[in-house]
Amino acid sequence: MTPTELHEIVEVRLHRVDQRYTPGRRAIVGLLARVGRPLSISDIAVQLPAVPRSSAYRHLVDLQAAGVVRRVAASDDFARFELAEDLTEHHHHLLCTLCGRVIDVTPTPDFERTVAVMVAQLAEQQGFHPTAHALDVQGHCASCVEADTGA
Ligand SMILES: [Zn+2]
Ligand SMILES: [Zn+2]
Repeated sequence: MTPTELHEIVEVRLHRVDQRYTPGRRAIVGLLARVGRPLSISDIAVQLPAVPRSSAYRHLVDLQAAGVVRRVAASDDFARFELAEDLTEHHHHLLCTLCGRVIDVTPTPDFERTVAVMVAQLAEQQGFHPTAHALDVQGHCASCVEADTGA
């Protein structure tokens, strides 16, 4: 997807929820697309000094409501934001509950096939037809483990 196509899709999704695609929202979506990993509000404030932090937060809430942005979090203290999966690609997250780090991991086709089989087993008993899944793993990142054992 080109940046132009992305912005067109985002504009349509915002219109559906009666929101306009303002320059501030456009800047945030462009940044998330360029960086390609989940960003915190602080990261966004550093990268986009022209967008006040409070507006950035409101924009993110509206972009989430429009289905453009997804919130990723190990806990409420460590919220990160990324583009919705249908605008990027399917992936999973490793979330550090100590420092808040979020690591994007792209599963292998083998991994996805295994997950699909397991999910089908769970869903079948309920007559449920799965269409997607999200798998976020919580734990301690390599730096936090190292800091802990080094202390
Ligand atoms: Zn960590
Ligand atoms: Zn998956």
